[in-house]
Amino acid sequence: MKREYPCVEVNLGKITHNTREIVKLCSTKGIHVVGVTKVFCAKKPVVKAMLNGGLEIVGDSRIENLKRLEEFKCRKLLLRIPMESHAAEVVKYSDISLNSEIETIKRLSKAAKRASKIHNVILMIDMGDLREGVLERDVIDLVKEIISLENIKLAGIGTNLTCYGGVIPDGNNLGKLVMIKKEIKDKIGYEIPIVSGGNSSSLYAVMNGTIPDGINQLRIGEAIVLGRETSFGKDVPGCYKDSFTLKGEIIEIKEKPSVPIGTIGMDAFGQTPHFEDRGIIKRAIVALGRQDIVSEGLTPLDKQVNILGASSDHLLLDITNSCNLYKVGDIVDFNMDYGCLLRAMTSPYVKKYYVD
Ligand SMILES: *Cc1c(COP(=O)(O)O)cnc(C)c1O
Repeated sequence: MKREYPCVEVNLGKITHNTREIVKLCSTKGIHVVGVTKVFCAKKPVVKAMLNGGLEIVGDSRIENLKRLEEFKCRKLLLRIPMESHAAEVVKYSDISLNSEIETIKRLSKAAKRASKIHNVILMIDMGDLREGVLERDVIDLVKEIISLENIKLAGIGTNLTCYGGVIPDGNNLGKLVMIKKEIKDKIGYEIPIVSGGNSSSLYAVMNGTIPDGINQLRIGEAIVLGRETSFGKDVPGCYKDSFTLKGEIIEIKEKPSVPIGTIGMDAFGQTPHFEDRGIIKRAIVALGRQDIVSEGLTPLDKQVNILGASSDHLLLDITNSCNLYKVGDIVDFNMDYGCLLRAMTSPYVKKYYVD
C-alpha cells in the first residue's frame, strides 16, 4: 500500500506486549489497570491491542472518544471531570466517571434515572497536585450526599498527581488516600471498593515496591504507550519505548550557512532566535511542522541528525554529519515524547498506519 506522509506508524504487537507487562507488574500488588487511550485519540486498532494485553477497562478524557468505542464490550471510564451539560452522554457512553462537583453528580443521578441505569462515580480527592479533586476535609460530607443519590454508586475514591503541580506519588499522599477509605468505613460504615491511585507516575512506586497496600487501581496511558513511568522518566522493565514512530518526507536539501543573513527580528512565533555559527551546513527540510508535531519533543532515529527548528509546516534538520546520503523524497523517522505524540495523533494532517 502506498503511504502518505507525514504519518505515525503504530506497532500494535508492542502495545499489546507493554500492556501485558504492566498488567502483570500491577497484579503483583493487587492493582487493576485502566488503559488510558487519550494520547492516541482512542484509535480503535490501538484500543484493541491494549485490550488484547489483558485489560478489562479503558479510560479516556473525552466522552466523544468513549462514544466511538461503543462496540467494545469492555468497561469505560471517563477521566476528565464531566461537563454538567454532558450528563446524559456520560451516563450513556461510560460506566464510571471521575468526579469532584456534587452538582454535576446530581445531574448524573438524574440522567441515570432517566436512562434506567446505575452510574458509577469515583470521587476525586486533591492530594496536593492542585488539578482536580475535592479537599480532604470535605470528603465525609460529600460521601454522605453521594451515597444518598438515586442511580449513583460511589464506586471509589481517587487522586491524580504529577499533572499540574509535578507532585510525586508516595507513601505519604497515597497512604493518606488509603486512610481516607478507612475513615469513610469508620465514620459512615460505607465500604469504598476502588482506590484509584493515579497515573503512570504512580508506576514508579509499583516498580520499587513502595506503593501503599490498599491502592487497587491505576489509570495508565503513557507507560503503556512509551514504556516509561512519569515520576522520574524511568523505563518500565520489559517494555518497548518505540511503539509509535513518526515519519516525514524530505522536500529540500541544500548547503547553506548555519546563521541567517540579515538583521534578526522575530521568528514566525514571535520569538527572537539565536544561532551558533558552524559555517556552511547541509540542511534538509521535512514536510512536517507545528501543526503536526512539537519539534522539541522529536528525536531523530538517525543519531547524527540534529533538529534546527520548526515553523508551522517545515521542520529543519542539520544532516551534515549523517552517514546516510539523504535525498529529496527520502523518509526520516523520529521518536516522540508525550506532548509530541498527542499533537501528532490529534493532527488531521498526520496519517495513521498500524503494523503488527
Ligand atoms: C491522562 C490521565 C491519566 C493517564 O495519565 P498517563 O500519564 O498517560 O498515565 C490518568 N488519570 C487522569 C485523570 C488523566 O487525565
